[in-house]
Amino acid sequence: MTDFPRIGFIGAGNMATALVGGLLAKGWPASALMLTDVSEQALSVHAARGLRTGTDNRELVASVDIVVLAVKPQAMKAVTQALADCPQQPLYISIAAGIPAQSLAQWLGGDAAVVRAMPNTPALVQTGATGLFANAAVSHEQRVQAEQVLGAVGIALWVDTETKIDAVTAVSGSGPAYFFYLMEAMIEAGVKLGLARHDARDLALQTALGAAQMAITADVAPDELRRRVTSPKGTTEQAVAVFDAAGFADIVEQAMRACAARGVSLA
Ligand code: NAD
Repeated sequence: MTDFPRIGFIGAGNMATALVGGLLAKGWPASALMLTDVSEQALSVHAARGLRTGTDNRELVASVDIVVLAVKPQAMKAVTQALADCPQQPLYISIAAGIPAQSLAQWLGGDAAVVRAMPNTPALVQTGATGLFANAAVSHEQRVQAEQVLGAVGIALWVDTETKIDAVTAVSGSGPAYFFYLMEAMIEAGVKLGLARHDARDLALQTALGAAQMAITADVAPDELRRRVTSPKGTTEQAVAVFDAAGFADIVEQAMRACAARGVSLA
């Protein structure tokens, strides 16, 4: 096998497009990538940049090492069952929310090597965070390959039990929405405090970016960074006191528990 395993995407929508973009940016040769879709329109953007495209999912399985299942969850059962008797045994990576690896392996014929990935929407701008779970049929080499595929659009890390995928969903899968919610609230409050909406927006978003950048590059945890900008009797301390009085950390925990529980009930 070469350094660049051949990767086929079943479903050429938003996530597949993001992953293909990330792989090409990381130096993956276009000749090692292929996509199938039922929509000619979805395929046309990929064909236009020289990638192999088609409509036959079984033909794709026959010509790649890794198959990324990138269709909507509700289409997954029919798509995988139609591949059950394919003689080839590629690594299957599912990025669909809520579908257990065991169901996928069963639909694929019983002993398929399946990685279940939980990516998030920032993958679309190459700053995703993905949790990965591998079933017992996945080899060490295939694990490395799965990390390469999802690592092309951000960070990718493994969890050792599939139930932890629900925790990943609560932290990073749904996490972008929590930060968007905080941005919305900060923009609205900034407007109420007298700023023009576009100024409140620019300041809030740049602050989110700067805080994330600092937290990622700092050699201390976020609680220490927060303490460092919270001078005694200062302005930030006043704001944090209001958050604390309203039970901010409890609210976040409750929200994330509700998210994880929903993930369990979808499975
Ligand atoms: P999308 O609708 O943009 O793409 C899905 C594509 O699958 C469509 O182009 C559709 O035509 C194609 N398709 C449907 N049936 C098919 C078939 N039988 N064979 C081949 N192609 C077929 O969806 P998306 O946003 O790219 O999401 C794909 C998967 O990724 C979903 O399962 C979703 O749960 C998961 N996911 C998405 C995000 C996100 O940010 N969009 C985040 C995490 C997980």
